Amino acid sequence: MIDYDYDLFVVGAGSGGVRAANTAANRGARVAIAEVRDLGGTCVNLGCVPKKLLVYASQFKDDFAAATGYGWTLNNAAFDWPSLIANKNREIERLHAVYQSHLQQSRVTIFNGKAQLLDAHTIAVAGTQCTAKRILIATGGWPFVPDIPGKQHIATSNELFSLKKLPKRIVIVGGGYIAVEFASILNGLGVDTTVCQRAEKLLEGFDEDIRDFLGAAMARQGVKILLNSDVHAIAEDGDAFAVSLLDGNVMTTDLVLYATGRTPNSAGFGLEELGVALDTNGAIIVNGDYQTNLPSVYALGDVTDRINLTPVAIAEGEALVNSLYFKDARPVDYNNIPTAVFSQPNIASVGLTEAQARQKYSDIAIYKTEFTPIKNTLSGKDENTLMKMIVEPVTDRVVGLHMIGADAPEIIQGMAIALRAGATKAIFDSTIGVHPTSAEEFVNLRTLADPISG
Ligand code: NDP
Repeated sequence: MIDYDYDLFVVGAGSGGVRAANTAANRGARVAIAEVRDLGGTCVNLGCVPKKLLVYASQFKDDFAAATGYGWTLNNAAFDWPSLIANKNREIERLHAVYQSHLQQSRVTIFNGKAQLLDAHTIAVAGTQCTAKRILIATGGWPFVPDIPGKQHIATSNELFSLKKLPKRIVIVGGGYIAVEFASILNGLGVDTTVCQRAEKLLEGFDEDIRDFLGAAMARQGVKILLNSDVHAIAEDGDAFAVSLLDGNVMTTDLVLYATGRTPNSAGFGLEELGVALDTNGAIIVNGDYQTNLPSVYALGDVTDRINLTPVAIAEGEALVNSLYFKDARPVDYNNIPTAVFSQPNIASVGLTEAQARQKYSDIAIYKTEFTPIKNTLSGKDENTLMKMIVEPVTDRVVGLHMIGADAPEIIQGMAIALRAGATKAIFDSTIGVHPTSAEEFVNLRTLADPISG
């Protein structure tokens, strides 16, 4: 039997890689992990965690405005971007230490450097070479920016987290998760924000009612949203930038952010040289067991470009290790994965959109409610909450839930358990609400929005 240095060598210490490494090592496997940047990957360093901290920062504007209605008088509220970024950086450094200590406690060897696969079992990293029975590629993704004149002036979400100062004006290109989240953050922090989206609505893939509601809500908050609009070129204009649109209009702005999707980070690890099959966009192709066409090489998470969400990568890391080392095959169920967008207002959903449900079932029933959350009564904030439920009448199963409004992600997480458990509308109806909350509206939906759906 060949004596490898490690049972498992993980390339990429992001959410999926770290979970796989820790789980395998905790159960006795000899594991190493290589990371060229910071431990924690996109989520911890340039994604979910710092994003959510910025979201909290941006919400204070609304909270301060609401406070007056609740009897508070606030004087001299002022915002300081460098303080926020310094505090955010301190928190991220704390998380690096937590990640490092967990890996060390699990006895995972950590290499700081870019790993290079030399053959199916050999890795060069940080000036050394080692062998592993299995290699797991969990290198995530990287912002994609289309080739346009002036591309060198473009910032991506990566740079946004460490801007030295806030711009006065920003143009954000794209209409997906990152575009709407940053638009809400920056608008909340007082930046004059324009979103330029080539499609006719924001947030492709979400339920149409949610997309419409978000567009209207963001516009009410002062975000300028240009739909069916795309950028032709960007040029320097003194200290600012001139953004030329395809329709001939030109905007002047202090910063241009492209949030036009992410590409799998699969280049430069020696994968192509070894003949590992990649998709046209660079995604590593894997089978149902996360195995590439090179049997000792596995891949999971965003580098496989399937469902690019942190909790999915974590679940994949755990599922892979369980099946490899413990013959405990509990594959990831990719149905009913809840998702959230931390825009203002927040969005969350689980299950099918109305359009998907109409395609899948001959008949569907839709329940909807739009209401003023109690907090907005005294605050005077002009913003409702929308909830939508999609039911398949033959089985009475709830097949989709969508919400836009305060706390939507917190509420939908629990609802996702109900959907996974196969909850019927009757079960929702017989559940007692928690009063007074927004969440209780999901168990109080009695009136069909469209009695003859289908
Ligand atoms: P998305 O895929 O969500 O959105 C990309 C946007 O850019 C779309 O509006 C798309 O338009 C537009 N676009 C794509 N190519 C071009 C182009 N060449 N020119 C102009 N516009 C273009 O990507 P994001 O960058 O927003 O986010 C990447 C991924 O990160 C998400 O898919 C998600 O998986 C993950 N993520 C998750 C978050 C969460 O869970 N809260 C938060 C942030 C990111 P069109 O609609 O026409 O294709």
